[in-house]
Order: sequence, then structure tokens, then C-alpha cells
Amino acid sequence: MAVIEPIARMVAELSHLPGIGQKTAQRLAYHIVSMPLDEVRSLATALWQGRKAIRFCAVCGNYTDGEKCDICADPARENGQICVVRDPRDVAAMERMHDYHGRYHVLHGTLSPMDGVGPDDIHIRELIARLSTEQVQEVILATNPDIEGEATATYIARLIKPLGVKVTRIAHGVPVGSDLEYTDEVTLSKALEGRREM
Ligand SMILES: [Zn+2]
Repeated sequence: MAVIEPIARMVAELSHLPGIGQKTAQRLAYHIVSMPLDEVRSLATALWQGRKAIRFCAVCGNYTDGEKCDICADPARENGQICVVRDPRDVAAMERMHDYHGRYHVLHGTLSPMDGVGPDDIHIRELIARLSTEQVQEVILATNPDIEGEATATYIARLIKPLGVKVTRIAHGVPVGSDLEYTDEVTLSKALEGRREM
């Protein structure tokens, strides 16, 4: 079959997205060219404007379209706890279980010497700074239970413990090697409940 250049370009762009292989990208591209033009425009506009509007919360690093995210701006959230996660998707996962009422801190990565990711490449310094400006009683380390997540939790615990703040690690209800993001609410809730002091 002859390559139709504009469709080939759509397929190439779509296949850059996670979880979208060549076949799916082609199916999507052919679907999109069959859509009414105004629907395609509103899809493209939503992607473009959404991406442009989103930035990192000045306090916790979560996604927001303002200065602070909804959680940091919410006076009803408890100030005493900070739950440390790898990325904004993990905040969404934690929020889905409706069991946690404290604050968050998003690291934007985990320590990975193999990939050249060191402590200065993720938002650890920002977390430490928050401990001196906020009334924090407990830091809950909820990085993924894989090698990098554990190493990151251990590293942060070692930094924080001398400051007299309680440091806990979520329990291993979350299967080892799995992503917090894909953990169901009940398991995640149990993991939070069963957290242990480090
Ligand atoms: Zn925030």
C-alpha cells in the first residue's frame, strides 16, 4: 500500500506515546482522519492547551495550573504529614484511595546511579527545605518497592532522621517491583496503614 504522507506523520507522532505501538498508532491515525474536523481541532487544542497550562506546584512539585496545586492550597489538609512519591501520577494514585489527608512531595524521579541520576537531579533538597518551614511530624516514603525506590527511600531516611522528624516507609502490601500507580486502592491503603518507622 502506498504511504500517505500526512497519515504516516500522524502515525509517527502517535507511536511516540507510551503504550502505543505501530499498529495502535495506525488505528488511531485512521480513526482521526475519519473524525469531523472540528472534533479533531478540539482534541488537538485540549492537548496543546493542557500541556501549556500545566506546571509544577511551587511547594510540592505536583502538577498544577496555578502557583500551588489543589492539595497544597487546601487548608483542610493536615500539615503534619508529607508523603514522598516519585511522580505526579503517584499523587493521583494515593488520592484515589481517599485514605490519606496529609501533604505530598514529588521527587520527579528516583536515585539511579546506573542512569546517572544522583541526589541533586531529583527534588530532595526541596523536601529538606520544607522540613524547616513547615510543621512536619512525619515523612512517609512512598517510592515504588523496586531497587531504585528502596535506595531512594533509604537515602532520604538517612538525611531526615537526624533532623528529629519521624520517617516511615509504606509496607510491602505493594508487590515488589511494581508501580504505585498501578496498585489498587485497597492494597495501597493497607500499605499506608502498615507503614513502619525507618
Ligand atoms: Zn502542591
